Amino acid sequence: MNNELSLGEQKQSLVYGPVTSRRFGTTIGIGLVPLKVCSFDCVFCELSVHTNVHTLERKTYVSVEEVLSELRKFPTQEADYLALSGAGEPSLAANMGEVIDALHAKYETPVIVLSNGSTIYMKDVQDELRRAEAVKLTFSTMDEQAFKRLNQPVEGLTAKKVADGIEQFASDYEGKLYFEVVVVKGINDELSDVRRTVEFLSRFNPYHIDINRPVRPGTARYLELPDRAVYEPLTGEFSALRVF
Ligand code: SF4
Repeated sequence: MNNELSLGEQKQSLVYGPVTSRRFGTTIGIGLVPLKVCSFDCVFCELSVHTNVHTLERKTYVSVEEVLSELRKFPTQEADYLALSGAGEPSLAANMGEVIDALHAKYETPVIVLSNGSTIYMKDVQDELRRAEAVKLTFSTMDEQAFKRLNQPVEGLTAKKVADGIEQFASDYEGKLYFEVVVVKGINDELSDVRRTVEFLSRFNPYHIDINRPVRPGTARYLELPDRAVYEPLTGEFSALRVF
């Protein structure tokens, strides 16, 4: 496997990896949507390009057969997860549920979906995500202004809508649930803001809540790192919390 490619470049392939991370172990990534087809245009996006197609419309971009045929070339038996992820938002693939079912039929490796959380209010997305062994949802702030600045969502999508969707989905999801909170200096790095978000997410008994900082260069290369010492003490209050 050519590991000279950056993760961003790898993610532009239909299947990529193995990728090793502290959070999810070894994963084989599967990208169901093209580069930066996304409902957000986050200031911290590592893909270093602005969103090409800013949308909440679910469409099929690659067939189940294409995914399975490409996946054959990868060492799936060595992976902790087959990860629906990639260079855009995976839940915008209308056949996400179908792909999860096909992976289950062919592989024993569990499936994780790494989603930005923007579509979690949709009933069909909730039903499809329930079929995955693990789901990671990013939700970084309850504050509407900060949500807009940080994620630059599609018109009409609010933090409240996402929070309500998380509540509907996470209250009875039986798989392993991860949340990610991305903290950016000057937008959502106040301790009170971080605590409010973590407090909300911890209600759903997640396996982990991970606080991340934009350490890799993103679209906005001027981003300054927040001071993690401000919110690190929260690990004493919330057992699921990890700060990276
Ligand atoms: S959700 Fe944000 S970080 Fe992820 S691909 Fe879309 S713009 Fe980039």
